[in-house]
Amino acid sequence: MSKLRFKAISESAKRERGVIEEKGRRSELFCANVFNTERMLQYLTKDAYESVQGAIFSGTKIDRKIADQVAEAIKAWAISMGATHYTHWFQPLTGSTAEKHDAFFDLLPDGTALEKFGGRQLVQQEPDASSFPSGGIRNTFEARGYTAWDPTSPAFIYGTTLCVPTVFVSYTGEALDNKAPLLRALHAVDEAATAVAKYFDKTVAKVNATLGWEQEYFLIDKALAHSRPDIILTGRTLVGHTAAKGQQLDDHYFGVIPSRVLSFMSDLEKECTKLGIPVKTRHNEVAPNQFELAPVFEEANLAVDHNLLLMDIMDKVADKHNFKVLFHEKPFAEINGSGKHNNWSLATDTGVNLLSPGSTPMKNLQFLTFFVNTIKAVNTYEELLRSSIASASNDHRLGSNEAPPAIFSIFVGSQLSRVLDELEGVSQGKLSPEEKTELKLNVVGKIPEILLDNTDRNRTSPFAFTGNKFEMRGVGSKTNCAKPMTILNTIVAKQLTDFKKEVDALVDKKSLKKDEAIFNVLREYIKTSKRIRFDGDGYSAEWEKEAVRRKLSNNKTTPQALKVLTTKESLELFKATKVLSEVEVRARQEVELDSYILHLQIEGRVLKELVYNHILPASIEYQNKLIKNVMGIKDIYGAAHKKLTDGQLSIIEQIAEHLVEVKKLVDHMTDTRKKANKLLDSGKKANAYCENVKPYFSQIRYHCDKLEQVVEDQTWPLTKYRELLFIK
Ligand code: ADP
Ligand code: MG
Repeated sequence: MSKLRFKAISESAKRERGVIEEKGRRSELFCANVFNTERMLQYLTKDAYESVQGAIFSGTKIDRKIADQVAEAIKAWAISMGATHYTHWFQPLTGSTAEKHDAFFDLLPDGTALEKFGGRQLVQQEPDASSFPSGGIRNTFEARGYTAWDPTSPAFIYGTTLCVPTVFVSYTGEALDNKAPLLRALHAVDEAATAVAKYFDKTVAKVNATLGWEQEYFLIDKALAHSRPDIILTGRTLVGHTAAKGQQLDDHYFGVIPSRVLSFMSDLEKECTKLGIPVKTRHNEVAPNQFELAPVFEEANLAVDHNLLLMDIMDKVADKHNFKVLFHEKPFAEINGSGKHNNWSLATDTGVNLLSPGSTPMKNLQFLTFFVNTIKAVNTYEELLRSSIASASNDHRLGSNEAPPAIFSIFVGSQLSRVLDELEGVSQGKLSPEEKTELKLNVVGKIPEILLDNTDRNRTSPFAFTGNKFEMRGVGSKTNCAKPMTILNTIVAKQLTDFKKEVDALVDKKSLKKDEAIFNVLREYIKTSKRIRFDGDGYSAEWEKEAVRRKLSNNKTTPQALKVLTTKESLELFKATKVLSEVEVRARQEVELDSYILHLQIEGRVLKELVYNHILPASIEYQNKLIKNVMGIKDIYGAAHKKLTDGQLSIIEQIAEHLVEVKKLVDHMTDTRKKANKLLDSGKKANAYCENVKPYFSQIRYHCDKLEQVVEDQTWPLTKYRELLFIK
């Protein structure tokens, strides 16, 4: 009998399932553990405060003396909060976060003990960088990496550790992380968007990209999750027959949140609130044991940090509640996987959402400007945007009728489509007074009313306009949002810069009025980016065919999707916007390919272990039991046994057939993997894993799942889908 599985089941049955009481006001907890503006005012001198605010607003440098003051103040606050250690908190290219803790505690030469944290410790540190992926940057430049303070994301206390958000770069300046390029992209989009926003309001001095992510996840009982080697090592089930019941009844989605889960959520939200993550919504998702959490949107860099911090907190709080959180995009076959919609917009320092229509024609022209430029940017760089969400795990989800396809397109809804169609008819050059009036009153002027009842939602679109923001829906649940946000803001920055040049040229050379010039340029953009607009069913086979006609990319696998990163156009874009140098782009591509290979390699190994060490022995054990039974019947009934053992014999044979096949497949897969491992070029190796190794996974799984169906329940060693998904 399989011990681990049944021990896990009985352990999970013993969990406390009490009703929780939510007490207290969240607003009082908010930012309790964050060195935010309020605390800065309290702890910093006026000079230091202004210097930090200047760095946040316009990226000005903080000089060493001031940094010392700031460090002193942060230390005083942190120690008063009970912190004993500090760490630079950064985002290496592994996709998650990293930290190296140092104690505040220090000794003076005379042996006096004290708490130390100066400007030097705040501003710069040197983590042991050798273990983080660099895509060859470190070898090429023999450069060590260091972390540097990002004052735009406030320091916070997590447990008893003061965490200082930082970038991670090499001594020669190359980004070794996901934050540095994001900050550069946000700077680029700020510059470009501010210049364009000034057409409409001269007082605009800064534009922030805003991000509101929606995190989906599975919550599985810890004992059950830990009883599965594949979940522990790969984050997903590599085998497992579907449960008799799945998500077809929608009873989970519309049901109440189970009490154990609610108690986890409540604890989680309290932790988040203290750390300044403005969590707002929580609900059940489509698949059993799947949930979602979403905060109020924030400035994009902060939102990215908060998402990474959230994932970390979730792991810890879940553990306390005897759960395991699965962030993998496809933990279970045949039911929905998890994503992380990225809602994105641009907001001015004057408090205007640039993707929200306003009450005057001018405000609506501003809306249209940013709306059409975003469409144009996505049209030009659709393949690059697709590459930003590519990963081995997200490959399972994109295009499998539960998430948008790998083809990028934009949904704007029928009413806004009509507005764009009308704008397409605007005359070339100067506009007649009648045309201007007509445009302002009847086309541009009507947008706010249109949007109010533009409630049709298209869940199949990867990039949908939802009234006052765009929603990028293909982002994976595990993905660091910095990646898609870096690309999206970079392409919009480039587009807005080009737009401004064109408009200015029309004003200077053709002496058009500003609004005439804007209409003229937008008209051309609408014409040339038509192919990206699609309001139909993104899941349909017809759309795939149509996308081919429109010459839209459809890169279904990660190795394919990553190729575009190093094309001439992409490298030029990154250079022009100063987001990534060629060395950095190539390094990133290398890191992503390696990560893809490693993930598949691990899955291949785990699958082999599952088959050889768990599934074969269990199947044989049950087969032996049947054989013994048949022999026993034969002993008693002699020649007459045949008729009596028909059923048993047939199961014995079925098991044998699957065993022969599955063993053969696993051995072939291993050989194929060994061949792939010999390839030196990462691109070729990733391709080999994708095209030669990966196809074995589903074939092997097929036989394992068939065996699960015939082998008796008490012998089956792996915790089943019905247990993982329905025990709450
Ligand atoms: P839903 O899409 O579920 O109907 P909402 O439209 O209210 O819900 O918002 C969904 C997400 O969009 C929320 O996480 C929210 O923070 C985010 N969001 C709303 N406005 C903006 C904005 N201007 N910029 C970025 N994200 C936003
Ligand atoms: Mg949404």
